[in-house]
Formats: sequence, structure tokens, C-alpha cells
Amino acid sequence: MLCLLLLGFAGWLWIAPKLDPWARYSGTEVVACKMNQRNVQQMVRALENMEGRKPGDPIDWDKIFDPKSEYYLKKPVCSVHGEYEYSPVITPRGEPVIRCSDSKHRMEDPG
Ligand SMILES: [Zn+2]
Repeated sequence: MLCLLLLGFAGWLWIAPKLDPWARYSGTEVVACKMNQRNVQQMVRALENMEGRKPGDPIDWDKIFDPKSEYYLKKPVCSVHGEYEYSPVITPRGEPVIRCSDSKHRMEDPG
């Protein structure tokens, strides 16, 4: 009896992750990716405000991702693909400064 229970439990452990496609394709990993992008977007907007920068001005990504920088932000990695494209310049409102290579991971409202 115990043996059967253990087998059942092992089987459930094996099957459960496969029954949860949401986790990979539209759930937590997509949300995590969008959060990454939002953090970067907000950092650039903050920089814009603090330094009086305007859309079209260059963004110094090396400075943002430098741990010694006052604006330091940990360089994000997409939870699924790991490929981000960065805008070389500050974008107008509503346009992202960072974009994931997966079109399903794009921010709806970049800010
Ligand atoms: Zn992504």
C-alpha cells in the first residue's frame, strides 16, 4: 500500500510540471520578463527627470549596469530567452527603451 502511494506521488511529481504550460508560456516567466523591462524603463525615466534629459539623448547603458554607478541596475536576463535589445537613445513616452526578443514579452504600456 505504502509502495503504491509512493509510486503515485513520484508519478505526480513527474507529471505536474508538464500539466502547467501557463508557468512557461504566459505565467510567471513572462511576468518576470516584463518586470525586468519595467525596471529598466523606470530607471531611464528617473534618469531623464533627474538629469533633465530629453527623448533622443543617448543612454549610457554601461553606466546604468555599472555596480559603482549611482544609477546602478542589475543587468536583466529574460527568464526564457535571455535576449534584450536596448535603445541607444531615450525614447518618447510610451515607447520602450528595452525590448525582449520574444514578441509575447513586450510591455503593453511601457510608460
Ligand atoms: Zn523575455
